[in-house]
Amino acid sequence: MRRQPLRDTQELLVLFSPRGRIDCVSRISARRTGLLEPLTCILAHLRLGRSLPLLDEVSLERTYAGLLGDFDRLHWAGYLLNLWLEAFPGEIENNDAYRLLRLSLDSLDAGLRSEWLVSWCELQAMRLLGSAPQLRRCVRCGAEHQLDWFSVAAGGALCPHCRESGARPLAAEVREWLAFLQRANLLRLAAARPDDGVVLAGRDLIGDWVLYAFPRLERFLKGGL
Ligand SMILES: [Zn+2]
Repeated sequence: MRRQPLRDTQELLVLFSPRGRIDCVSRISARRTGLLEPLTCILAHLRLGRSLPLLDEVSLERTYAGLLGDFDRLHWAGYLLNLWLEAFPGEIENNDAYRLLRLSLDSLDAGLRSEWLVSWCELQAMRLLGSAPQLRRCVRCGAEHQLDWFSVAAGGALCPHCRESGARPLAAEVREWLAFLQRANLLRLAAARPDDGVVLAGRDLIGDWVLYAFPRLERFLKGGL
């Protein structure tokens, strides 16, 4: 959820929900209820309003104290929310996308390494969109060996024969890490012990992938983790 003051005592709220993004108007005083702070999970009851739905009643589901108390994690929570808005825009029901966002915020709040989690979430979002990078075979010829290059424009890994201009080197360990992130659930991710250099190289490649699809996210990714 994020907030923006409106006239009088009203506020414009953006709710992230299983039904997609919902913009609504609230007359409930945040100070009075304490429930409508950004990054709070609420059960919301909406009714039809003149232009936007009106928030009638709220009850608290959970807060994210771990995120609010840590600048780095708060930054990445903001990034994940904006990634969600870019990848799944509008008011369209998408339970999988909502579940991914909640799982990611819960894990970030619980202290899972942001460098791992952000790449995991990006790759899972791309999978839901049907545009995940191909990492197990050469995008062009289907070869399964010597996948030493990575190209965002081509759509994933390339063998030396199919290498094209703009392709970046893809170390075997980095490719394995990204392929692991594509299929791992959060339990397996939490138990992983990747090398820090491999993680950063993977973030770099997947960050490029995300910016290619959603250039507006540059403000979050510039400068890296
Ligand atoms: Zn090839």
